Amino acid sequence: MSKVAWIGLGVMGYPMAGHIREKGGHDLIVYNRTPEKAAKWTDQYDGETAATPAEAAQNADFIFMCVGNDDDLRQVTLGPDGVFSTLKEGAIVVDNTTASAGIARELHEAAKGKGAGFLDAPVSGGQAGAEGGVLTVMVGGDEDVYAKAEPVIQCFARALNLMGPAGSGQLTKMVNQICVVGVIQGLAEGLHFAKQAGLDIPKAMDTITKGAAQSWQMENRWETMIRDEFDYGFAVDWMRKDLAICMDEARQNGASLPVTAMIEQFYNEIQRAGGNRWDSSSLITLLERS
Ligand code: NAP
Repeated sequence: MSKVAWIGLGVMGYPMAGHIREKGGHDLIVYNRTPEKAAKWTDQYDGETAATPAEAAQNADFIFMCVGNDDDLRQVTLGPDGVFSTLKEGAIVVDNTTASAGIARELHEAAKGKGAGFLDAPVSGGQAGAEGGVLTVMVGGDEDVYAKAEPVIQCFARALNLMGPAGSGQLTKMVNQICVVGVIQGLAEGLHFAKQAGLDIPKAMDTITKGAAQSWQMENRWETMIRDEFDYGFAVDWMRKDLAICMDEARQNGASLPVTAMIEQFYNEIQRAGGNRWDSSSLITLLERS
């Protein structure tokens, strides 16, 4: 069994760390900025708490992180009490945050400088996927490091793949988000049109989910979208952060993302209307208003 440190017990990190303990049987030490969440975690699972990321990392073989964005990652890794200040030689850092490919490459280099490994390993599958331990994990990094970390990551994954060198996991997650937002906007427009046309929406959805328009979003979101229910799932603030990362990367690699750029602005409008914590399927609200 390995010693595993976990940094960031949010909506995603809390259950993911739980699966590493329960399914993997590893020794866990957890850190959370708000200490109450770490105390709650150790009430529920076997494990210790650490006062800082540095303390969590000092004896760990694997250090998993799931925080918010690039700045948060910098703080918990390169900051004064960060993971890299105590990282031991041969340890492996696995980052499950959705962040930029640039910071993944930077942290990969920093880890290398300490004789350690680093994998960027963002996830897809949402809160339900994290709780069920059935996430899709897109990994960037070195093959030998991936081979060692794979059995531990498997504890919370249904699908797991090494996509290429450092940053490739984050680049694949960007592809995921680009594909998802186009589908959500298409579904919102389809539902809006169906309503305007006076169609029986349940009948229309029941029929077309069996055809070429079928998608996860259609199967799981059409009913809540027409009921204006957006108080769950993947928040607009997170989606906006992810699309900003995609647009920034596209500016660097020359990719043309006209629809994604437009939808980023739609999410901006939803934030301005106070929908920061609404689910990302709330794009339909902009059509209903116009
Ligand atoms: P969350 O519930 O807001 O949790 C964020 C966690 O990061 C909390 O434990 C928070 O600590 C910690 N944190 C944030 N900034 C920090 C800092 N500067 N220093 C130390 N700790 C910090 O978010 P989440 O939903 O778990 O999402 C985490 C990551 O997964 C994000 O990158 C998100 O885009 C990605 N993701 C989320 C979903 C989803 O459906 N939620 C799906 C796929 C990917 P506190 O408890 O003290 O605030």
